[in-house]
Amino acid sequence: MGKKLKIAIQKSGRLSEKSLALLKECGIKLSGGNGKLKAEAKNFPVEVLFLRDDDIPQYVEQGVADIGILGENEVWEKKKDVLTVEKLGFAGCRMSLAIPKDEEYTGLSFFNGKKVATSYPEILNGFFAKKNIIVEIEEIGGSVEIAPGIGLADAIFDIVSTGSTLLMNGLKEVEVVVESEAALISNKSLSEEKKAILDKLVFRIKAVLRASENKYITLNAPLSSVPEITALLPGMKSPTIVPLAEKDWCGIHSVVREDEFWDIIDKMKELGAEGILVIPIEKMIL
Ligand code: ATP
Ligand code: MG
Repeated sequence: MGKKLKIAIQKSGRLSEKSLALLKECGIKLSGGNGKLKAEAKNFPVEVLFLRDDDIPQYVEQGVADIGILGENEVWEKKKDVLTVEKLGFAGCRMSLAIPKDEEYTGLSFFNGKKVATSYPEILNGFFAKKNIIVEIEEIGGSVEIAPGIGLADAIFDIVSTGSTLLMNGLKEVEVVVESEAALISNKSLSEEKKAILDKLVFRIKAVLRASENKYITLNAPLSSVPEITALLPGMKSPTIVPLAEKDWCGIHSVVREDEFWDIIDKMKELGAEGILVIPIEKMIL
């Protein structure tokens, strides 16, 4: 029983780079280079294990790793007894049903009695069971999108992000079953010591995620429009207002959500705001 928290991340694939980047943004410096199975952090009590994403739920359930970063889709599929601690906002994708593009789609009942190829039989089975639709599920390991073309199945259920793979294989997406993103999972019976390390890590992760969802803005405004402008800006508490050398003007500093940002800027310009600067935030702690 070491007192380091063991974090499993994907060894190589779509999640690897972003998982490492997230740990780095949390101030965790890893030693031990590429291609290794393990890396230790010098400045935080964690050890990183590099694994296939399919294996992470099992290792976390067993306690071989204490926590893991992987797609929710793998967590749902593997049905292991683990906790989802935090969604991480990257590697977003949807899991969809697709059929040959020339087939007429009449709704979910289309699938009754059909054969559907997938690498995610558990998720698909759960979905159709809830809808009372009987399908035959053909489990295959990968390249699911070629199954209808070679006569292995009538339809597929797979991860879609842009849909270009479907199109290339003469398929069309007809139902989105569920949406997935990367998540942090944890073993259910961590020691108090490890829980304390996890809490610290989650605190840092939240600060990083929040920062990426927000922008710091500064602008100059005529004093007369300050009430209307501040009403547009919730900020972390309320906007900071600083005097300017020029009479009847002030500077306003605040934090704006990335997704509301352009709307707010447009309105502020109408209220006479000038010299608007938008600055990325590195960490945001409430
Ligand atoms: P491993 O060798 O570790 O088993 P893999 O081939 O199963 O890797 P990747 O293709 O690297 O996995 O995908 C990892 C995760 O990335 C997926 O489980 C999913 O959560 C997410 N993801 C996001 N977009 C896509 C996409 N377009 N196709 C596949 N996975 C995606
Ligand atoms: Mg995998």
